Amino acid sequence: MPDRGPIDLHTHSSVSDGTETPTQLIRAAVTAGLGVVALTDHDSTAGWQEACAAASGTGLMVIPGMELSTNQGPASAHMLAYLFNPANAAIVTETARIRDGRLHRAERIVQRIGADYDISWDDVLAQSTDGATLGRPHIADALVEKGYVPNRSAAFETILHWRSGYYEKYYAPSPLEGVRMIVAAGGVPVLAHPATHGRYRVMEERVIEELVDAGLFGLEVGHRDNTEDGKERLIELAAKYGLSVTGSSDYHGVGKPNRLAENTTSPEVLEKLLAAGTGSQPFYG
Ligand code: AMP
Ligand code: ZN
Ligand code: FE
Ligand code: FE
Repeated sequence: MPDRGPIDLHTHSSVSDGTETPTQLIRAAVTAGLGVVALTDHDSTAGWQEACAAASGTGLMVIPGMELSTNQGPASAHMLAYLFNPANAAIVTETARIRDGRLHRAERIVQRIGADYDISWDDVLAQSTDGATLGRPHIADALVEKGYVPNRSAAFETILHWRSGYYEKYYAPSPLEGVRMIVAAGGVPVLAHPATHGRYRVMEERVIEELVDAGLFGLEVGHRDNTEDGKERLIELAAKYGLSVTGSSDYHGVGKPNRLAENTTSPEVLEKLLAAGTGSQPFYG
């Protein structure tokens, strides 16, 4: 495979909680000199077409992807999914259910915050595009607009923190259900940022083993939120279970400090990923 340039397999557009439209995101990726970018909006494939159209003629390769929300008991776990069939019935139904759950959960969070701050549901809707997968980042943007916090990160550290008293969870399938669903749709599952809470709070090995048996492809080791000792643990697990290791930015436009290509994936792993995905095609722009 020719060396196309840096490979970044985790980015968000305004189809979920990124601040740039898919077109703007693709332009940013070209400007940053990326060779390959995956669009991985939360629980939605609605940005794929626009992203591919925007990449046409740029030389940038676009991998269609998604970051599927899952819940492992009380803990949330994000599952990156690549090259699956977006029309697969289980994917369509389940992601619609998650997005709907997120919408009503966000409404309830805003209602509770509204008891203490001057903020309404309309203020939050004004910060999101039509049909976007809603999350706390949109509530954060409304709080910024109202002047309560300087930026998203400050909102997450205070009013939107899970210990703030306003937080609540939302419906999502288990990681095992997620992996099965992605694989059944011809896709390639990669566990996203699995070590954000350190080595000893990585998902239990027996669960990882189940995911591997169901077809888990890799672990996202290169991510700014994984701790250093957590990354060591992930590399041990990857070696033990024959998992591929990815690295990505988790770019959210100006919504997060994460910069495109601050972590990257090797061309060898990309090649394996392309060979494993059969549900949709990469777009060679
Ligand atoms: P939610 O999905 O509603 O629970 O919100 C979590 C999302 O917000 C994740 O996709 C994160 O990328 C994003 N997020 C988490 N922490 C921060 C932060 N400190 N600043 C900006 N975005 C964040
Ligand atoms: Zn996000
Ligand atoms: Fe995530
Ligand atoms: Fe993400």
